Amino acid sequence: MGRPGLHCRAAQAVAHREEAAVRCGIVRACPFVRRLCTTQSPSPSSIVSTPASRRRAPDIRAWSGSPSLNSSLVSTSGTARPAAANQDTRLRVAVDVDEVLGRFVYALNLFCKDRYGMEYKVGDYWIYEFAKIWGCSQERSNQIVHEFFESQHFTGGIPVIPGALETLTRLSESDYELVVVTSRQHVIQDVTLDWLDRHYSGLFQEVYFGNHFALEGKSRKKSDICKNIGARVLIDDNPSYALECAAAGINVLLYDWEGAYPWSKLPASGVHNSELIRVVRDWGEVEQQLATLAPALRHPTLAPGDS
Ligand SMILES: [Mg+2]
Repeated sequence: MGRPGLHCRAAQAVAHREEAAVRCGIVRACPFVRRLCTTQSPSPSSIVSTPASRRRAPDIRAWSGSPSLNSSLVSTSGTARPAAANQDTRLRVAVDVDEVLGRFVYALNLFCKDRYGMEYKVGDYWIYEFAKIWGCSQERSNQIVHEFFESQHFTGGIPVIPGALETLTRLSESDYELVVVTSRQHVIQDVTLDWLDRHYSGLFQEVYFGNHFALEGKSRKKSDICKNIGARVLIDDNPSYALECAAAGINVLLYDWEGAYPWSKLPASGVHNSELIRVVRDWGEVEQQLATLAPALRHPTLAPGDS
């Protein structure tokens, strides 16, 4: 959307590479082509190259948990790269969308005020469960959020988080492989991909939808997704996901933007694997913490901070 030339060139390149991939039995990722996860094994048909082709794809659903995903990666230049070498050199980092890449609650509040006269600020959300903040049922909350998905406040694009693009660009140009792992629902996957393409084009190799709080369809836990795709670090603002992933042995950077996300606080005690969770307050701190973690994650014999 908005860059037909890029899509066109990418589609031509991908068509070329897909042909080779079919011969080799592998599936590739490319900066302008986001691979979605389907209920079936990854195949060239699960690669989505343009918004139009995404809309035509009949069976794009939740991630399947296929263990073959790791071994199916190739470099963005299109040169096949064995999975083992890839794991040695590139640290796979999963990135959440809402409140980490974009200001979802900020835009949601604008919608709620316009549609229902509800007056809330980001600072009102002591927990990231809207029904509890709004004092309504979960069903009503889901309904309002899905109305928001249909509104210009959402489809027009939620604002980005400052500093994310610059940091992610540097990371993607060094030894990190970036994927999106979001709790977002299947029903907004096209809008989400368009938004990512508009604001973070070429930075993410793959996009995984957990389909949480959905009106229909199965959901997948973020910890399951991260483990199965080999993500060693998750960047997320939600402490529930942070706790869940840390308990599963995954490092987490808990994104509490400027320390001003009321919901993004860990319990004072009783956190399992708490050493795996580090609080970060902006994208500069994300970069610093990844630099500290990366050597030990790439070479497990090193202690964190050694290099
Ligand atoms: Mg989030």
